[in-house]
Amino acid sequence: MPGVAIIGGGPTGLNAAIYTARADKRTLVFDDGGGTTRDVDTMENVYGFPEGVTGPELVDLGQKHAQKYGANIVEEEVVRIEPDEEQYCVETTADKYTVDGVIIATGADYERPAIADVESYEGHGVSYCVECDAYFYRDSPVAVVGNDNYAATEALMLLDYTDDVRILTNGSPFEADKDLQDRVVEANIPVITDNLDRLTGEEVLEAVITQNGEEVSVDGLFVALGTAGGTDLAEMLGVPVDGDDIITDPDQSTPIDRVYAAGDVTGGHQQIATSVGEGARAAINLLEDLRGADYIDYKKLDSQPA
Ligand SMILES: Cc1cc2nc3c(=O)[nH]c(=O)nc-3n(C[C@H](O)[C@H](O)[C@H](O)COP(=O)(O)OP(=O)(O)OC[C@H]3O[C@@H](n4cnc5c(N)ncnc54)[C@H](O)[C@@H]3O)c2cc1C
Repeated sequence: MPGVAIIGGGPTGLNAAIYTARADKRTLVFDDGGGTTRDVDTMENVYGFPEGVTGPELVDLGQKHAQKYGANIVEEEVVRIEPDEEQYCVETTADKYTVDGVIIATGADYERPAIADVESYEGHGVSYCVECDAYFYRDSPVAVVGNDNYAATEALMLLDYTDDVRILTNGSPFEADKDLQDRVVEANIPVITDNLDRLTGEEVLEAVITQNGEEVSVDGLFVALGTAGGTDLAEMLGVPVDGDDIITDPDQSTPIDRVYAAGDVTGGHQQIATSVGEGARAAINLLEDLRGADYIDYKKLDSQPA
């Protein structure tokens, strides 16, 4: 009866829930109503949606799919998870639940830069994902906001789409590792360290204005300030974290028995496709733990190089 707690009702958690519910495990999907997916307007690279799909549509479909097999969406915020003899006690702001295994799929919080009007240009020039949106800015002027390895990597990746790339550190020193700094210099990517003031543009982004009043014309502004994931719950259980990411093995397991993590909260490519895949992998391996079966070693298969 205790079953599985999936913390997070985004694509990662809901896809995991489809597997555990179909395997007839009591499946509790905790969802506090937030998450990145719900904030995304249109995604054009999600398998099966050639016309694109919005984040809220994707969550809605995922909920219906998981519920069809008996998953229970619990609209409560999880505040604590503790070992409880051989099981786990998941505490929310409203109740406590005992389960046999846990999948943490709490997503990542994207850090917004301290520039006026950023929110109003999200989806209209401001992006948090080069892999998702760079395609829309082919041969256009773009900038990356950030000052470390993440920003340097994103700027270098943008060169696949346009030659007109610059890095805006927003008043911070540029602190990428030396080899990345060298690659930025070799690629002639200007690094502008001025403090940034605000964004301008009629309906879509046209420029970033620095606090000195200078105008940096850009069509696309890519935010690369790192992510702040829901690692607190993991740390309560003794699961190792690295900055904002939960560390897992390639099979999504953690060093703690029957505790898995998947999706944006583990870092990586942070795409719907990769999140959904990791959710499935976590669920399959957790089910295997719960069965205690040893006739197929999925973990071993997952760890093998492709
Ligand atoms: C602007 C933007 C555009 C993007 N565009 C694309 C795109 O075009 N294509 C693409 O593939 N990807 C895109 N992405 C990335 C994609 O949105 C993420 O990879 C995906 O949303 C990750 O899903 P997830 O399930 O891991 O996390 P989320 O969708 O963030 O879900 C996390 C879930 O956990 C819940 N939660 C968190 N903490 C708790 C708690 N304590 N208690 C209970 N519930 C909790 C939240 O409510 C939510 O339900 C984009 C991201 C951004 C920011």
